[in-house]
Amino acid sequence: MKMKWVAVLTGVVLMASASAWAAPSTYLVRVDTKNNIDRTAVSRVGLAIEGVDLTDGSVTVRATDKQIQEIGELGFDVTPEPDFALDFPAGMENYHDHAELVAALADVVAAYPSILAGFSAGTTTEGRQIPGVKISDNPGADETEEGAILIAALYHSREPVSLEVALDFIMYLASNYGVDAYVTYLVDNREIYVIPMVNPDGYVYDVENDLDYWRKNRRDNPNTNCEGVDLNRNYSVDFGGGGASSNPCSETYHGPSALSEPETQAMAAFFDAHENVTTALNIHSYGRLILYPWGNTATPIADATDLATHQAIGAAFADLTGYDDMQSYGLYQTSGDAVDWQYGVLGLTAFTLELTDGFGFYPPTGFFR
Ligand SMILES: [Zn+2]
Repeated sequence: MKMKWVAVLTGVVLMASASAWAAPSTYLVRVDTKNNIDRTAVSRVGLAIEGVDLTDGSVTVRATDKQIQEIGELGFDVTPEPDFALDFPAGMENYHDHAELVAALADVVAAYPSILAGFSAGTTTEGRQIPGVKISDNPGADETEEGAILIAALYHSREPVSLEVALDFIMYLASNYGVDAYVTYLVDNREIYVIPMVNPDGYVYDVENDLDYWRKNRRDNPNTNCEGVDLNRNYSVDFGGGGASSNPCSETYHGPSALSEPETQAMAAFFDAHENVTTALNIHSYGRLILYPWGNTATPIADATDLATHQAIGAAFADLTGYDDMQSYGLYQTSGDAVDWQYGVLGLTAFTLELTDGFGFYPPTGFFR
């Protein structure tokens, strides 16, 4: 397998975070103060206390990024409070819903036509396109002599931070081409594919339902009231094994058969059509982890070179991000997941990233890290 420059760059971009394009905003948060002395210390940061919970002494405040950081430096825990008055709750206004993402991708492709090309990876159950962007110096040509990478996000619809990081990566490469020598080298010498939203149906459902922690796609499972298949349990390596469920009502329902879903079929078709892809990066949240095969067994990758490659890149990621790197099984057992299939069937170098863990599935934009 070839050296994976792009994968290492991605670690840098993950650290850079999406906050670069986020407008300043305030977040409704709870601070674990205990008494009036604590509450006074918090108020001195310069914010208004909106409510006090006298059962435990904690306060609810509306604060900026900077103020929240200052509160944290005082030693208090800060947790987000639900605030669903808007399309996205306060603090998440800068997230992209489905329509906004499609528009943002169209805009960036139109702004940088010499290095970006849009494509559709496939069509979902509900008829939505799975949008993708190719970034390369000749985006309209297949330069199969160049190595290629696929970065894919939002397999799970309650993980919108993954979509934002993927979009931010596109913006970063586009805006730094011809400016930053390393970015320019990568764009000139690699084909970089990004599919920021593998699961549009699930995402539309989740956003329309006030962020309902929806994970799966929206397959209409027969003979049950439970919808959806877990797209990260629907691949063919050890399909139906441990860490996946045969119950359509389960969050980890693996589907009726391997690659039964239009979304996973779209991913398979993408790889079939782009045989120069050597590396796959699958972005999820949350956990601050860098995971590589295998997920279905505790046994390490048998091929010594492949194992060393995954370990070396995983360690480089860890250095760049402060995340922990490990074999996927070390987190918990999965079967039918993307990295096992990408490595085991396609022979790719394959990683799962689990992003920020600070605020669960829906971190305020300023808390990407
Ligand atoms: Zn996930």
